[in-house]
Amino acid sequence: ATAQQVVTRFAPSPTGFLHIGGARTALFNWLFARHHGGRTLLRIEDTDAKRSTQEAIDKILEGLDWLGLDYDEPPVYQSQRAGRHREVALTLLEAGHAYKCFATPEDLEAMRAEQRAAKQPMRYDGRWRDRDPAEAPEGAPYTVRLKTPTEGETAIDDAVQGRVTVRNAEIDDYILLRADGTPTYMLAVVVDDHDMGVTHVIRGDDHLNNAFRQLPIYHSMDAIEGGWPQPVYAHVPLIHGADGAKLSKRHGAVGVEAYRDEEGVLPEALFNYLLRLGWGHGDREEITRDEAVELFDLDGVGKSASRFDIKKLQNL
Ligand code: GLU
Repeated sequence: ATAQQVVTRFAPSPTGFLHIGGARTALFNWLFARHHGGRTLLRIEDTDAKRSTQEAIDKILEGLDWLGLDYDEPPVYQSQRAGRHREVALTLLEAGHAYKCFATPEDLEAMRAEQRAAKQPMRYDGRWRDRDPAEAPEGAPYTVRLKTPTEGETAIDDAVQGRVTVRNAEIDDYILLRADGTPTYMLAVVVDDHDMGVTHVIRGDDHLNNAFRQLPIYHSMDAIEGGWPQPVYAHVPLIHGADGAKLSKRHGAVGVEAYRDEEGVLPEALFNYLLRLGWGHGDREEITRDEAVELFDLDGVGKSASRFDIKKLQNL
């Protein structure tokens, strides 16, 4: 049998420039796929119509191109796939893996107020999970929620973080389709990763919690129609500033084009610098692109946050 071909993806939300953290995520996805002779894809997650801009899309594409990160297919635009996202939600609904929730915004607000008062974690309590939709008023709006497991735990063997376990009771029956019929981000990511054949999801560890919410969609769809294997997850620690705080503008963490235009940094230098942020390759200082492709693997990615120091970058 031949091993399954590796497929990775970079999935930026085009709400600003390609920042250092995003560029590093893109680099790791690119290197991992190239190292394994696989494919790497680009998905523009432009579903937030208010915050996504064409200018940001252009900046991201330019930044990736400047860094020399090429993609094996034209970018997928998530906003164009809403019909397909909805189709999967309806498949889940039809098969009883999702349900209609008729709770009104006022109902939910009251629920949260009670939870807050009782000092309980605020999460949807499954009030429509076992209720007959016929009990809802005629023509009432509803959301579609995923029936997530309530008992036991879910473990993820993350390629960077190791085994991470969450109690299923902590994952609520979250929304797949909003009352206006639009798909949520959580649904869109899973459907797109599945349809694009993504085998390895390499992204910032701020998405680790999402993985536990996304997995039940794979499991349900696999039970319904088969062919929905869960991907390998690799959640890479975020980049912090030299002072240890979360990276922000104040650390000089602007878009990669600023390094190109204002700081005069060469793409190979930034490539090297990003590689060293979170990936150990012994004591080598300089590494060529070909060497990086040859050597890169996820077991070299560290578990703790790396520190970005603009002064080091300026001296490259
Ligand atoms: N669009 C998300 C972001 O920019 C990434 C989602 C993912 O990698 O699954 O943070």
